[in-house]
Amino acid sequence: MTAIPDEPIDGPACDVLVIGSGFAGSVVAEQVAAAGLAATVIERGPWRDNLPVRTLGIDHRARYPAGWRGYASLFWGLNHRLLPGGRMRVHRDGLFELFLGSGMDVLCSSNVGGGSHVYGGLLERPVDPHYWHGYPGLDPEEMEEHYRVLLDRFAARAPLPADALPNYAPGLFDTVPVVHSDARMQPAMGIAFPAVPGTARRVRSAEGVEYGESTYRGDGLLGTAEGAKRTADAVFLPAALRDGARVHALCEVRALDYDAARGHWCVDVRDRRIRRNRRLRGRFLVFAAGTMNTVRLLLRAREQHRDPQHMPALGRGFGGNGDVAGFWRSAQPDADFRSGLPCFGRIRVRTAHDSQDVVLSGLGALEQLPLPARLRRVLRSGLVLAAMGADAGDGCIRLQRGRLQVDYDAARSPVFARIGAAFRALAEATASPVAVASRPLTVHPYGGARLARSPAEGIVDATGRAFDLPNAYVADAAALPAACGGPPSLTVMAWARHVAGHVIAAGRR
Ligand SMILES: Cc1cc2nc3c(=O)[nH]c(=O)nc-3n(C[C@H](O)[C@H](O)[C@H](O)COP(=O)(O)OP(=O)(O)OC[C@H]3O[C@@H](n4cnc5c(N)ncnc54)[C@H](O)[C@@H]3O)c2cc1C
Repeated sequence: MTAIPDEPIDGPACDVLVIGSGFAGSVVAEQVAAAGLAATVIERGPWRDNLPVRTLGIDHRARYPAGWRGYASLFWGLNHRLLPGGRMRVHRDGLFELFLGSGMDVLCSSNVGGGSHVYGGLLERPVDPHYWHGYPGLDPEEMEEHYRVLLDRFAARAPLPADALPNYAPGLFDTVPVVHSDARMQPAMGIAFPAVPGTARRVRSAEGVEYGESTYRGDGLLGTAEGAKRTADAVFLPAALRDGARVHALCEVRALDYDAARGHWCVDVRDRRIRRNRRLRGRFLVFAAGTMNTVRLLLRAREQHRDPQHMPALGRGFGGNGDVAGFWRSAQPDADFRSGLPCFGRIRVRTAHDSQDVVLSGLGALEQLPLPARLRRVLRSGLVLAAMGADAGDGCIRLQRGRLQVDYDAARSPVFARIGAAFRALAEATASPVAVASRPLTVHPYGGARLARSPAEGIVDATGRAFDLPNAYVADAAALPAACGGPPSLTVMAWARHVAGHVIAAGRR
């Protein structure tokens, strides 16, 4: 596989411009390129320096944060209404972007491959089996086929006792009466499980990239050096590149406009590698910049339009998937939760009136950063508890004097009280406190440009096409009509695959 040549990125219009290369953008790029359409992906983050990307022959790669210098590149940017312009860009190669909102904070990531570099590897269908029902023109059977194909592409499966995993969730709280966990309730994960437990080999994927099987260390929050956690770029972009797609890393879309006379989109891009502004053109535009940044770009586009009736539902229907994270610390002095899969698996915590599923992770990934010895001891003996559920999805993302605002009232979603009760039950039963932030931090934002039956209720129709913008589609989590109630990335990819089919059909007309 050859490296992508350095080339000027201005030029004639391509068929499909894709903004963002995360779970959604990578899927769309692969599909439209396979159909023979000229696809250009614009991604503000860098290619990451891991084994699959090296075997792709990509020259310019950025390391995952590690060592003292890792602190400088932890964040791509921070968003808060009190910052000048509402936003501070921290580091070109930064891994995370944080949005501090009113009532909810949001964390997302910046890479070729998007959130797939930092995710816990969980790939699951929505909790509600009727999630895709009730949208005329959208066939739930077709969506089920996308789920099947995608789980297969990631070779995803639930961990098993035979994998002999360190810190396997079903064994962690087996003496705690309010906790139940067994092999049957474990989530599917996009992890390269070693064919022979305990012996991690290097293997070549069907897409032609090399990656390592899991060593049960170092595939978590701060990336996946050997690619054992399968990322969207490694799974989808090799075929896209082979089929002629262009991927422009370190290029941030700042503004967009539709040129009605020529019938194409013009996208203004800051190329942070060569520190120049560029203009790209495409017949079709696909938004896949992740919930927060897709909605930001759409809000900016609406401001240019100067018509208050334009996209009336933009920003509405935002939610955080009921995410609550807690930190539980073992009372055992020798507890060590550094090794294991990026996510150890799922437990069910029983409360007086209910029960709540919680996924467990260790913080072994933070060993990549220098930390004081005392803090290191605390982190290695603790577990991150992550609970999710269907929230009301009644938040709002808006621009106020150019600054992005997130309005969200957790009190309106009963899921948060249920999770709080579960964390308290676990703390009591284990005599170890669970520390929880004072307001929800979500890593699973959705909505704001959601799928709906009419422009009064949402932004896109059942094909993903924007009601009020010509030849524009929303393929990412911003279009999800409701909370998945569990890890959403598989659903984001299924939606993106569905949307790509409609982009292809329109592109061939
Ligand atoms: C720590 C963490 C753990 C997670 N664990 C899981 C898990 O186990 N399972 C699960 O299902 N989900 C998990 N998630 C959530 C998952 O990452 C998201 O649901 C998913 O990434 C959403 O996909 P997306 O395509 O909508 O956006 P993303 O994957 O975020 O991709 C958007 C891309 O667009 C780029 N972009 C943004 N703005 C611009 C711009 N203006 N110009 C150019 N490019 C731009 C971004 O850099 C990014 O690469 C986790 C998230 C985090 C942060």
